[in-house]
Amino acid sequence: MNTILPIGPGVWELRDHPGAKRSPTVRTVSLVKAIPSATHMALVELARRNLLHFVVSQNIDGIHLRSGLPSSLISEVHGNSNLEICKNCHTKYFRDFQTRTAIKDHDHQTTRKCTNCSSTLYDSIINFGESISPQEFDASFEHAEKADVCLVLGSSILVPPAAYVPQRVSERGGKLAIGNLQLTSSASLAQLNIHALCDDLMRGLMAKLDIPIPDWELHRRVRVIIQKQRIKIMGLDVDQDISYTLFSGVRIRVRQGTLSKYESKQLTGRESIEHKIPLNDSIGNMDVYIELHWQGNYNEPMYTLRTRLTDSIKDVHLFYNPKLRVWREQ
Ligand SMILES: [Zn+2]
Repeated sequence: MNTILPIGPGVWELRDHPGAKRSPTVRTVSLVKAIPSATHMALVELARRNLLHFVVSQNIDGIHLRSGLPSSLISEVHGNSNLEICKNCHTKYFRDFQTRTAIKDHDHQTTRKCTNCSSTLYDSIINFGESISPQEFDASFEHAEKADVCLVLGSSILVPPAAYVPQRVSERGGKLAIGNLQLTSSASLAQLNIHALCDDLMRGLMAKLDIPIPDWELHRRVRVIIQKQRIKIMGLDVDQDISYTLFSGVRIRVRQGTLSKYESKQLTGRESIEHKIPLNDSIGNMDVYIELHWQGNYNEPMYTLRTRLTDSIKDVHLFYNPKLRVWREQ
C-alpha cells in the first residue's frame, strides 16, 4: 500500500522504472513522526472485525504496526525502518527512531550491538536488488493461496515478488480489485480498477460498509519488573515480546503516603532501564512512581506509572491520543 499519497512511485519502482516521476511538490515527514492515514485506520478496523485477514506491505515506514494492525496480520516485505536484527542469534529490536545508520545502499550494519550476544546489529530494510526474508514472503504467499478477495492499494504491481501476490489470487479465481491512480499492467486481471487516492477509496468503501474509521491512538506496552527493590523497566512491542526502545529517560520516585522516601536521577538505557532503590528501612506500604519520558516523535508528554514497591511483574498498556495529547492506561 502506498500510504503517503500523493507522492507517486516508491523507491523500488523508481529504480525499476526510471521513467516514473515523483511529485516535486511533495513534502516528506520523518517516518517516525508520520500519522497513520484514513487508509491505515480503515484497515485496522477491518482487521478488528475479521473482514481483513492479511496485509502485504511494500512500505518500510512501520506505520501499519504503529496504526494498531497486529504483527501477525502483516508481512513487511521490504523491512521496517524501526526494526533492527541480530544475524547471529536472530534477536529483534524495535526502536522508536530510524535504525538505519549506514550510508551505502547495501551496507546495513548499524552502530549498535546485540545485548544478547554482542554481535553487530543490522537494519531490516531490503534495498533494491537484495533478497527478501523467506519468512516474510512465505506468509504473503500462504495468504495469496487462500484469499477470496485481494485489494491492491496504491501499488503499480510492478515490483516482484510482492507483485506476484495479487496475480496469484487472480490465477486461483479469487477476486482482485486494484486501487491505483494510474492504470496498472495487471488491470485486465482485476474485476475492479479504481483510479483514486487510497484515502478516498477507503473512505468510500467504509461508508458503503457502514463501518466508521476509528481515530488513531498510539499504543505502547511497558513492562515493570520489581524484585528486591531492583526495578527494571522496558518497552515491548504491543503483541510480540520484542524489546522496543521507547524512552529517552526514566525517573523513579518512592513515596510512603505523602512522604517522599527516594528520588532517582534521570536514568537511561536502550533495551531496558534498571535501577536499585537504595532504601534500607522497611519497604512496607511504599509506592513507586515511574516517570516515563518518551522519544517524543508525537510530542507525547511524560507519563507517570504508579505501582506498589513489592516484587511483581506488570505489563501496562498505554494509549496516547495525539490530538488531545493525553495518555490513558489500560
Ligand atoms: Zn545477537
